Amino acid sequence: MSARKKGPDLSGVSFEALVAEMIRRCGDDPGREGLAKTPERVRKAWEFLTHGYRLTPADAIGDGLFEEHHHNMVLVKDIELYSLCEHHLLPFFGKAHVAYIPDGRIMGLSKAARLVDVFARRFQVQERLTEQIAQAIWDTIQPQGVAVVIEAYHLCMMMRGVEKQNSKTITSAMRGAFMDEASTRDEFLRLALTPHHPLN
Ligand SMILES: [Zn+2]
Repeated sequence: MSARKKGPDLSGVSFEALVAEMIRRCGDDPGREGLAKTPERVRKAWEFLTHGYRLTPADAIGDGLFEEHHHNMVLVKDIELYSLCEHHLLPFFGKAHVAYIPDGRIMGLSKAARLVDVFARRFQVQERLTEQIAQAIWDTIQPQGVAVVIEAYHLCMMMRGVEKQNSKTITSAMRGAFMDEASTRDEFLRLALTPHHPLN
């Protein structure tokens, strides 16, 4: 804490005033017609984009846990994901694939998507996001194993032109059986990363 630079105390300044000042410093006039309501819109947008801070895994899973003696892999594929990189506050977006092997309890299928949002709707790095989703499932439903893969594009790489435009970042986190058994892990990765559209 001590090494952190102390700036002026802005805690009493409204979000809208801070955004207006940012617009000014970027070189535009926050008073002109097209920008007049922008600070308010930005505040509302950012409240939404960071609503994960006000949620816990318990909020996401709620009472969506069921006793069930299914002992095979449950995989929820292609969960849409939108987050903000904590280094540039620019979006990264892509898909999450979440799998687990139940040990007496399953969770409602929509819960995996909600759980992704709890952690994605914050300032993040993709690696930590992947780990947090896996850990939350591991702790909450205590399965035999859990695996999470995230594939994402980072606008801080694409828009700033400092890196490859189309490179996708892939991260994974494994617990339990997915960690211990190569065949289980391989089955998950094959199912998660092979594009297929059987319902089309
Ligand atoms: Zn970044």
